[in-house]
Amino acid sequence: MPSGEIQSIKREYLEGLNFSSLESCLEDSGVNPVHAKALFNAVQRRLDRALPEACDHLVPPLQRWLRSAEAPQQCPLVPVAQTPSADGYTHKHLLRLADGAEVEAVQMGFPGRFTACLSSQVGCAMGCVFCATGQMGFARHLTAGEIVAQALHVERQLRATQGERLRNIVMMGMGEPLHNFEPTMQALEILTDNRGLNIGPARVAISTVGHIPGIEQLARHPKRYSLAVSLHGASDAERAALVPINKKWPLADLLQACRDYSRIKRARVFFAWTLIGGVNDSDDHARRLAELLRGMDAHVNLIPLNPTEGFDGAAPADSRVRAFQEIIQDSGLPSTVRQRRGIDVAAGCGQLKVARANRASGLG
Ligand code: SF4
Repeated sequence: MPSGEIQSIKREYLEGLNFSSLESCLEDSGVNPVHAKALFNAVQRRLDRALPEACDHLVPPLQRWLRSAEAPQQCPLVPVAQTPSADGYTHKHLLRLADGAEVEAVQMGFPGRFTACLSSQVGCAMGCVFCATGQMGFARHLTAGEIVAQALHVERQLRATQGERLRNIVMMGMGEPLHNFEPTMQALEILTDNRGLNIGPARVAISTVGHIPGIEQLARHPKRYSLAVSLHGASDAERAALVPINKKWPLADLLQACRDYSRIKRARVFFAWTLIGGVNDSDDHARRLAELLRGMDAHVNLIPLNPTEGFDGAAPADSRVRAFQEIIQDSGLPSTVRQRRGIDVAAGCGQLKVARANRASGLG
């Protein structure tokens, strides 16, 4: 392994080392790599105690190494706020990172099918106008360890409060995951490792606003995760008004990348359409959406808008949502309406962080 690569691995947190990196790290430090399995297990599964105490069952050389300055550190996530929704199905966690940056992780679901929605960046460069994170701008990418640590935090909460475990991961929190491709893939490799949390790859969804180079990379990636693409507009002009990145990666190219992905991976592509009253919720929009996806193995998720302070828009009436969905269904496209659980906890990405900042500045 080239020395530059070793250095970059050592800067990563323990949680962000995949199994082979951990083996290399131990070997490089003079510790027998045969102990990597026990250490990986302790980092990813023994969540009831902090490291290095969680490793006190490990062999002495490993314990000494973990306590040395040479060893990678555990990701120091500090819970800043946790808000449950009124219906109890959604818990949003605001977590502070070592540099003071804050990200959100959301725990959603029911016993037996809990999902963690994870952030991939601090802020986001894509600038979607209706999104609280987009309104913040981009600060930095997260490391693999910072992404994994969010999932471990949710798993720890589930175990402690409900005796449950995490079943699904969605990369749908703050940030565009395909804009932070390698750390996101490294994190998912770790979270799907059967020596760790062992989340099935089919239970992992990656949501993108249409980062075409990332979709192309994902099509070549050895694992098959679910791909969810946010559309929101059926023409370049309509879409660019909501999703500015459409000017760089226009609709026709995006749909071609999705068709290629579906063909290469032999997988259905999920399309998200945020319904905004009077903007993209008419019968005509529904018909044009159906036309765009004709012939593709696709599923449409309709999401009535989660209101944000920085965007003057509202969700349509339920009857309009139903009428929109009927047109989609009649065209032969499967679809679902995502229930707006968690609005009372500001569960749209970035909303809890903004709500807290507003309260601190007297705005909210
Ligand atoms: S919707 Fe997603 S891609 Fe768009 S600004 Fe928000 S976090 Fe970024």
